[in-house]
Amino acid sequence: MAYDFDLFVIGAGSGGVRAARFAAGFGARVAVVESRYLGGTCVNVGCVPKKLLVYGAHFAEEFEQAKSFGWTPGEAEFDWATLIANKNQEIERLNGIYRNLLVNSGVTLLEGHGRLLGPNKVEVNGQTYSAEHILIATGGWPQVPQFPGSEHAITSNEAFFLPQLPKRIVVVGGGYIAVEFASIFNGLGAHVTQLYRGELFLRGFDGSVRKHLHEELVKHGLDIRFNSDVERIDKQADGSLLVTLKDGSTLETDSVFYATGRRPMLDNLGLETVDIKLNKDGSIAVDEHYQTSEPSILALGDVIGGVQLTPVALAEGMAIARRLFKLEQYRPVDYRHIPTAVFSLPNIGTVGLTEEEAIKAGHEVQIFESRFRPMKLSLTDNQERTLMKLVVDAKTDVVLGCHMVGPDAGEIVQSLAIALKAGATKRIFDDTIGVHPTAAEEFVTMRSPVAR
Ligand code: FAD
Ligand code: NDP
Repeated sequence: MAYDFDLFVIGAGSGGVRAARFAAGFGARVAVVESRYLGGTCVNVGCVPKKLLVYGAHFAEEFEQAKSFGWTPGEAEFDWATLIANKNQEIERLNGIYRNLLVNSGVTLLEGHGRLLGPNKVEVNGQTYSAEHILIATGGWPQVPQFPGSEHAITSNEAFFLPQLPKRIVVVGGGYIAVEFASIFNGLGAHVTQLYRGELFLRGFDGSVRKHLHEELVKHGLDIRFNSDVERIDKQADGSLLVTLKDGSTLETDSVFYATGRRPMLDNLGLETVDIKLNKDGSIAVDEHYQTSEPSILALGDVIGGVQLTPVALAEGMAIARRLFKLEQYRPVDYRHIPTAVFSLPNIGTVGLTEEEAIKAGHEVQIFESRFRPMKLSLTDNQERTLMKLVVDAKTDVVLGCHMVGPDAGEIVQSLAIALKAGATKRIFDDTIGVHPTAAEEFVTMRSPVAR
């Protein structure tokens, strides 16, 4: 049967664009449909605008520290509207780049909502297209639990477009987004209260990292409350919000920001017209080739519920394009040693196993840790401390995990990921000459284990 396209991609986000562009480059006839914004979550309401806001938030402490280096900065004033307008302009520029990337690689770009009509058919704006392969790359969407007053809560989607910076904000959640935005709002001058339902936030990260970041954020002035959750939110006559917590206490605030995870985006996707099985969490179930239970339909990225990071969606898109249209270049995605950063102030950077994971996996571990005051702060009275930690297999000497909390941790961990992927031992770390004076050199100078 002759199809209109070899590959039809639903969603022009990180993974969809990568798969579409590379498939077209390999000679396939490709269409991609996008309903909202080119570049998807990462470019429009994720990684990119978030990082720009983090840069914005960082200036507050830079101005303060500059005084100890002889500078007399003027009275610093922050204008949220300028930051948001400039951010929006940059995102528009990136949207244009994504459009050009797709069109110049020969992909047919359709703007509208894509809806499955069967195993090989998609409808867009009332028109039906057929394709040999369909790729669902529709990403995710913020998930807010339902409770009295939950309609007053905003999510990351709205936070990027707030008309003004709230003076007081309550951030709910203890994952990446909550921790990053708590730092952003705090750095920009809002009074931030962060509520997390468990004992300690950032579940899944190394225990030392979680504790260390908590201590540092408290030093930065964040009001962080663990074992704390919201019962209800009431709007008051003056427009402010009254948040009642499950322990009966109340908080008055201007905004409540929920970052309690994301659900797969399957709205009005026409799943009832195909035989696609879902995982327990509602994400699309796929096999090792990203194939769903409907043989002609594949899925990748956040919508399959794995590791929700842009570079992972990109790698999956590349693997799919190669497997379908350039088999000789195909390599499966290696999900081990995925480095990741939380862009809080200070950053977390991490790759490999946490101490807890290594022990659970049966390794006899040696732990190396270093805590120090960054050199840049030595002339200031800022008491921030950096943490660096190595988890090493005591028997084989292989470095299993590297973890850091401190300035530029996100930058530093990328190169460490290469070393871990290459199977580096602690001996190789020790034999590597440091770059002096840097914080990163500490990763090659930790000599004595603190625990075994
Ligand atoms: P998306 O990028 O979400 O793309 C899906 C696209 O599909 C969207 O454009 C959507 O409009 C479109 N779509 C959905 N349904 C349809 C339909 N029916 N028809 C047509 N189009 C449709 N990751 C990092 O690695 N680093 C970070 O620093 C980072 N920061 C983040 C910060 C925030 C606030 C958030 C929310 C996420 C962040 N992420 C980060 C995660 C990252 O953005 C996602 O993992 C990544 O975007 C997933 O890519 P994707 O291709 O699966 O989906
Ligand atoms: P996460 O899954 O990381 O965190 C969700 C948080 O909300 C957890 O602390 C969870 O608690 C808590 N939570 C979940 N449900 C409820 C509830 N009903 N009531 C109260 N608290 C609740 O999700 P995020 O939304 O922070 O981010 C989504 C994903 O996006 C991340 O996992 C990450 O993959 C990606 N991302 C990556 C970034 C980066 O690379 N820098 C930045 C931002 C996002 P508990 O731990 O107890 O379950």
